[in-house]
Amino acid sequence: MARIYNFSAGPATLPLEVLREAQEHLVDYHGAGLSLLEASHRGPEYDAVHTEAIENLRQLLDIPAEYSVLFMTGGATTQFALVPMNLLLPGETADYVHSGSWAGKAIEQARFVGRVNVAANTAKERPARMPAPDELNLTPGAAYLHLTSNETIAGTQWKTFPETEAPLVADMSSDILSQPLDVSRFGLIYAGAQKNLGPAGVTIVIARTEWLARAPENLPTILRYQAHAAENSLLNTPPCFPIYLVMLVTRWLLNLGGLEAIAARNRAKAETLYSVLDGSAFWRPTAAPAHRSLMNVTFRLPSEELEQQFIKQAAAAGLKGLKGHRSVGGVRASIYNAFPPEGVEALVACMREFERQHG
Ligand SMILES: *Cc1c(COP(=O)(O)O)cnc(C)c1O
Repeated sequence: MARIYNFSAGPATLPLEVLREAQEHLVDYHGAGLSLLEASHRGPEYDAVHTEAIENLRQLLDIPAEYSVLFMTGGATTQFALVPMNLLLPGETADYVHSGSWAGKAIEQARFVGRVNVAANTAKERPARMPAPDELNLTPGAAYLHLTSNETIAGTQWKTFPETEAPLVADMSSDILSQPLDVSRFGLIYAGAQKNLGPAGVTIVIARTEWLARAPENLPTILRYQAHAAENSLLNTPPCFPIYLVMLVTRWLLNLGGLEAIAARNRAKAETLYSVLDGSAFWRPTAAPAHRSLMNVTFRLPSEELEQQFIKQAAAAGLKGLKGHRSVGGVRASIYNAFPPEGVEALVACMREFERQHG
């Protein structure tokens, strides 16, 4: 079996051990005589999976007891709407940081619900960057401040989160579990699973339980965080199989030594790539050095022609998914938790060879 190095931004590569484990138990789940795909979400097989997935997340992120961990559906995009529907009340203003494509989409959805103040806007700046905390134009008494911890398309990442009076809400879809995090600084965190947590189909929400009670009374039950929290994410049928994979991925992370260990590995992978990018004028990294993402490494070549040629040559060598997002072009290497260090070494070798030929 020849597996490629999959640099795709999402759905992204999963640990091979996790895929193998899921495969081994796919048809007969640990002797239960049925697949987990067929098991009741209220039965003992799935119940153990659900519980362990939550426990693993709590352990990895050291989530305080007063926070709920929810499994929802609809991706981060649905959270763009649910956050303001639940947490932005009539007459209030929510502050949003506009740092790129994903933040922009969150802002667009919040505007359907209520008043939005764009506290800073770096979305169009090149090199791409996150705003500095002292640039934020915050609203006194804001319902919350929303930010995007890692801009998957621009390749930028917050390094220290701003101190604010309003609760912080963060879209962490593309860097959750990539390094230790102080959850107590946030009112709510959400992340689609398909970058760093598992497959598409489940969205993780981590929120201060008490805060969720502020949702307006006319909000239908299925859209209420509080209702999901009260039913331990079993308000309706959850995406059982994606949650099973999240359980296996979080178990894999714990076995690896937790978030300190994966953070060290992630830093090493990113440094290897950025040092090649910084080592010659042939490569043009697109994010400001102080805000470079450790998850999505974005860069350009001297011409679009060379970019296309490089992406093609890399693909022929089994390095796939390097094409930048269609809105920005260029090259993007997504190197999430499960992306193996050997894949980064292979990319570096390919880059060196390409530069030798065309530099
Ligand atoms: C991928 C991504 C999204 C969109 O996620 P969906 O699950 O497709 O809705 C939102 N925000 C960020 C930061 C992302 O990387």
